[in-house]
Amino acid sequence: MTSSSNAHLSPPTANPAVQVRHLVKHYGDLEVLRDVSLEVAEGSVTSIIGSSGSGKSTLLRCLNLLERPDQGDLAIAGETIRFDRNPQGDVVGLDRRQLQRLRAKVSMVFQQFNLWPHFTVLGNVTEAPMRVQGLSRRRAIEVAEHYLERVGMADKRNAYPGYLSGGQQQRVAIARALAMEPRLLLFDEPTSALDPERVNEVLCVIRDLAGEGRTMVLVTHEMAFAREVSDQVVYLDRGVIGVAGAPSEVFDDPRCQHFVSPAA
Ligand code: ADP
Ligand code: MG
Repeated sequence: MTSSSNAHLSPPTANPAVQVRHLVKHYGDLEVLRDVSLEVAEGSVTSIIGSSGSGKSTLLRCLNLLERPDQGDLAIAGETIRFDRNPQGDVVGLDRRQLQRLRAKVSMVFQQFNLWPHFTVLGNVTEAPMRVQGLSRRRAIEVAEHYLERVGMADKRNAYPGYLSGGQQQRVAIARALAMEPRLLLFDEPTSALDPERVNEVLCVIRDLAGEGRTMVLVTHEMAFAREVSDQVVYLDRGVIGVAGAPSEVFDDPRCQHFVSPAA
């Protein structure tokens, strides 16, 4: 899949969990995403690679609706939203409840973990399921215990984040994301803030989740890992999808060489 036009670059999938069509996002006069179209198959892993400032985080934040796209269609697990503006530049046609439904299908893991420092590990993982989904405390604790076990952090349930290593905090953040039972899991450079010796424990957890068939979109600079776990790799270049396809296609594409070679 290599074409100079960025529309419909990612191959059409039979059962897309995510469908992005002609997404446009500006910050003021700066056009950060320019006509991005992308499909993510149910149960697949997509890695987004590209230079700093190319719009990777913005794209993830649009998928999570932390940022509101200016234009385009976004469909996640059967919920479709069209973003548009009238000639005055106001966003039109947005249904607040639909936004909430779409948001509830997506969880995100951030580079800086973003755990709540004044909550214990267990508190961090139970908070949103109780507040947002209305789970009882008892049920939220059951769910949290399950996912903390899953990421190997069950024994730290009563610890405060400040007493944990970066790798441990990130594993708690992953458990917190999983506890919302999302249909789509987003990772924004989940190992970039970690000491080198802590990177692998987080990659192992992500690798396991990929093996379970979770639908994930991952922004990463870990090229070997992206090649290994991804079904699809998307190279974002100044707000446009430069190349998208199977890992071998993208990593061997001459247009990506300067970026994916070890010297980059
Ligand atoms: P990446 O994650 O690929 O490094 P980003 O999506 O963070 O790129 O940023 C893309 C561009 O958008 C950059 O030029 C960045 O400075 C700009 N940008 C990101 N967030 C904002 C914001 N909230 N306000 C203004 N400009 C922003
Ligand atoms: Mg970023």
